[in-house]
Formats: sequence, C-alpha cells, structure tokens
Amino acid sequence: MARRRFGHEVTRPGRKHGDEPVSIPVAKDLEKAPDSLRRDQEITFYSREYPLESFALEQSASVEWADGIRREFSPETAELYEEFQEDMKPALEWVRASGDLEPTAEPSGDDVTQSIRDVARELGYSEVGFTRFDRRYVYKARQDDVRRGLPNAICLALEQEHSATQTMPSLDAEVAQGATYKQQAELAKKLVQHIHSLGYRAQVSGPTWQFGPMIPMFVDAGLGQLGVNGQLLSPHFGSRARLQIIITDARVTYDRPVDYGVPKFCEICQVCFMRCPGRAIQGQRLWYRGVEKAKLIAKRCRPVMTRYSGCGVCMKTCPIQKYGMKPVMEHYIETGEVLGKGTDNLEGYELPDKGYFEAGKLPRFDTEFFNMPTGRAEDHLMDDLQDKLQSASGSEDEDGAWREYREKLEDTLNRQSAVVDMGMDLGIWGR
Ligand code: SF4
Ligand code: SF4
Repeated sequence: MARRRFGHEVTRPGRKHGDEPVSIPVAKDLEKAPDSLRRDQEITFYSREYPLESFALEQSASVEWADGIRREFSPETAELYEEFQEDMKPALEWVRASGDLEPTAEPSGDDVTQSIRDVARELGYSEVGFTRFDRRYVYKARQDDVRRGLPNAICLALEQEHSATQTMPSLDAEVAQGATYKQQAELAKKLVQHIHSLGYRAQVSGPTWQFGPMIPMFVDAGLGQLGVNGQLLSPHFGSRARLQIIITDARVTYDRPVDYGVPKFCEICQVCFMRCPGRAIQGQRLWYRGVEKAKLIAKRCRPVMTRYSGCGVCMKTCPIQKYGMKPVMEHYIETGEVLGKGTDNLEGYELPDKGYFEAGKLPRFDTEFFNMPTGRAEDHLMDDLQDKLQSASGSEDEDGAWREYREKLEDTLNRQSAVVDMGMDLGIWGR
C-alpha cells in the first residue's frame, strides 16, 4: 500500500485536563461531509411513526432468557452483575430524580459554555461537547420522565481503563466497565451541582438509566463518529468511551459535527466485522432510520454476549480503541494501511470454553447456540396462557393456568425493573 494524500487536520483538546491539544490528520480519501451521513427528514419520520423503544422492553423475552443462560454458563458474571446492580442503586435513584433538583442561585444570563467545559474536564471527563437536545432520541416509555424546557445537551465521555479492556471478553473488563459507570455517577453529581450554582436546571441520562440512544448527539457535538461496530469512535480512546448526557436550560454555544474520516476508514479496516465471534456485525453501512450505519444483528450478538461476559470483541479489536485515533490516522497516511490489522496483538482473543483465536481464526457455534426467544416476554406468556386455556377448557386447570400466568407476569415486570448486562439496558419500568 502507498502513502495517502493529506486531507485536513482536526485539533482536539488533550486527553486529560491540562494536556496539550492533539492534532489528528485525516487523509484525503477518507474525507466525507458529516451532513451526508444523515437524512434529517427521515429521522423525524421514523421517530414520529415508529418511536424508539429500549431493547430491554421490546426484547424482554431475550432479557429473561439471557439471565438464565448467564447463570448456567457464567455464574461469576451473573454474580458480578447482581453485585453491580446493588452497588448502583443509590446512584441510580439520584440519576432518575436529578431533573427535580432546584438550582441554588439566580442565573446571570451569560453564556456558561466555558465554565461547564472547564469544570467537566477538571472532574475527569475527556470529551465534553454541546449540542441541541434531540428529543427524537428518547425512548417511547421514557417520554414522560424527561423534563421539558431543557433544550441543551452536554455530552460527556469518560474513559474506561485501557489494559482491562484489552482482555475482552473477561470478567476483568466487566469490572472495569462497572467501575467507569460508578465514576460517571459521582462526577455527574458534581457537575450538576456546578450547573445549579450557575442558576440552571439539569437532568442526567446515564449511567444505567438513560433517556435513549446517545451517540447521535455525541456526533452532533463533534466528539467522534459512529463506527461499523455500532460504537462511538472518540478521538482519544475510540469506543472505550462511556457516554453520558446532561440536559439543561443553561445558555451554551453548540459545537459542530467533525469529519474524523471514520466512515471511510471503517470501509478499509473491517477488523471488528471479521473478528466478531457471532458474525453479528455487517461490514457495510445502509440507511437505517435516517442514518447511514452498519446495523448490528442482535440475535447473533446477544447469545455471544450472554455467555462470554458481555463479549466486547468488537471494542477490543478496534484499532482506534486500542491505539487512539491520532496514531491510527497518521499510520494510514504514511502507509495506506490499518495499524495493527492482521496482528494477534490487535485481533487475538480468547473464549473460555473454546480457546484462543488468533488473527484469521474464528470460533464455530451450532445453530442451537443462537436459539433465543424474540419479542416481549408478556407476549410469550400470553401465548402460553392461551394454549393452556384451550387444552384445559372448563376444567379446574383453567384457574391454575391463570394463576401461573399472573405469577409469571409479575415476575417478568419485576425483572424488567432490574439492571441487566451491567446496566446497559435497564428495564423500562424501573422508575
Ligand atoms: S459484542 Fe461480540 S458478538 Fe456482539 S457484535 Fe461485538 S463482537 Fe460481535
Ligand atoms: S474495528 Fe475498524 S471497522 Fe470496526 S469500528 Fe473500528 S475502525 Fe471501524
């Protein structure tokens, strides 16, 4: 491969507060206008006609299935998630109620962008950006929970620990993820206090309880671009960024989307697509709900995630996650190649019962492995009830069938109010 022509340079604040700014070169052949990656009218159409809903609610049958499989296949992971859920309860309650807290001062009316950015960076958030809060990305069942009159979104990315992430899939990586969520909750409290002290209201989305998908607003705020792996590829640590949004009525100035060259780089890289143990990633982007993206095949991913500690091979094997965007883009300009591609260092991973998979080798699973119920758990219970009532018609078994249905439904609703998968899809009824 040959050296690439230089296109443009993106300058970003350093990774940590006080670090020197960083310049990322983008090759000419990777340039693509951010506006060309979305069709606003389509986003509006889909959000109106087919509002987004959380996976935990729409696919609650698989959430319950996953819980059982995890206990059987990886009891240590199940135990870790339970502990995490207990630990996070107080933080979660605070996040949910954060919109009801009152400001502690009178607002000055000044633009407070820099003040919020400085405090967020001092607290430890590496990526901080501002954009319009886009209500089209609020889950249907959360619409009433998200306060009106808070039109601005502060997008905040916190780095998950590097070395543990490189061991994915592993319990260590899940512990690191949980630790980042806990830290997010603590930092958000401090940042919200600061916003209150400026005289403004704030409501927090994440960790574990979130309004809806966050990546579109992070892209709007210029904090990265969507990777083929479905994750935000942020400048310093790629998809190792844990995301959070605070909405507010504070007067702020919006940032702009940035062309980091990610969409075209992904077309050349394709590492996550080739390394996914479940073959759940589609290498090419298509238009989906008004956005050009590679849609993940959930029924190929979830069975893997469930059995292998949240999997995350797609995060681990992304060069931008592992090395950072600057070295990856510099290497591409110098050589026309993807840094680390084809090496075991980047691409190798281990699955506990299957062994080590070097670059170019993938595990095999039988069809049974991917058998997973789809849709809502309540619908499956109702189908089950109808079958039982039909065969029991007129007999005492009818009462038993109804009793069983009621008990199972209650159990289902309780489960859906619990944090699962380290809190990534908290049950929608957990208010
Ligand atoms: S989590 Fe694992 S199975 Fe799911 S998309 Fe990523 S690599 Fe594939
Ligand atoms: S591994 Fe490569 S193709 Fe996948 S998201 Fe990262 S850069 Fe894009």
